[in-house]
Amino acid sequence: MIDRDQLRREKQNECDRVVEALHHRIPRLAEIAEEIGQLSIARIKSSIFQKNDQRSAQIDQQVNALMQEKKAILAQHGLDENIYKPQWQCPLCEDRGYIRPGELCQCYIQERLDETFQRSGIPENMRSLTFDTFNVNYYDQPTDIAEKVAKCRQLVEDIKSGKGRFNVVLLGEVGRGKTHLSVAMANAVLANRQTAIYKRIDDLLDLIREYKFDKETARHEGIFELEQLKTCDLLVIDDLGAENVTGFAINQLRIILEERNLRNKPWVINSNLSLSDLQKVYGQRVADRIIEKAVIYQLVSSESIRMQKRIQNQF
Ligand SMILES: [Zn+2]
Repeated sequence: MIDRDQLRREKQNECDRVVEALHHRIPRLAEIAEEIGQLSIARIKSSIFQKNDQRSAQIDQQVNALMQEKKAILAQHGLDENIYKPQWQCPLCEDRGYIRPGELCQCYIQERLDETFQRSGIPENMRSLTFDTFNVNYYDQPTDIAEKVAKCRQLVEDIKSGKGRFNVVLLGEVGRGKTHLSVAMANAVLANRQTAIYKRIDDLLDLIREYKFDKETARHEGIFELEQLKTCDLLVIDDLGAENVTGFAINQLRIILEERNLRNKPWVINSNLSLSDLQKVYGQRVADRIIEKAVIYQLVSSESIRMQKRIQNQF
């Protein structure tokens, strides 16, 4: 999180240094600044205390003339008035993070989003995986796939309105768009400033293992992430396969799914196994948790989408 007070102070100091150097280089500008300062005080005296309108108007004229002179000098040096202003990262809110009390600036919202994206575990190169970039025409039956995509969009809408009513299981061979579709859901949830976590099953189990067996040295964020696995608005578990399936893995997966199902917190599981193989490998209890509240979709295409894209890009 950016320390905005600190940032503003730095920008202000930087501006002060620039002005000081400028006034050193062009002493007349320093004199003008000094004169305008004194005239401003005189202006307050004349208007508020002496109520002397004629004097006030005279001062205004003098100030105006000085401002014109300053402008002309700056122009001679290829500069303008902006040199007297701090170079804010965000000119909209001058790096305050809000436009006015209660109205957050876009830069602040973006910063929060970036933070959530970083925490989500979605690699940088998967940020572009959205519903809009998911092309149903790569599939043998585009209409069928479009319906499935619509259902996945529905899940995101449910999450947005705070009522996750179902989970999604995406099955299919490697390169059939399971990751794309599931990350599109996660990205949409994140863009709505809600929380989503994407983990390949191996990384997810590593995270749990690190915390369970190495509590002393476990990173503080590890604990936070672990809790988030159960509570975030959407959890995507990618690549649930037949490799490295241990009692530990089965147990942990069951616990996460049970907790999330209880809390009505949706999840998406991707696997290249069939449902019956999942049942064989992970056992009946996990299989029950998986099918309990899930829509199960097979993403079928005769050729790998990845391969089709690569071929297309070559021509
Ligand atoms: Zn801003």
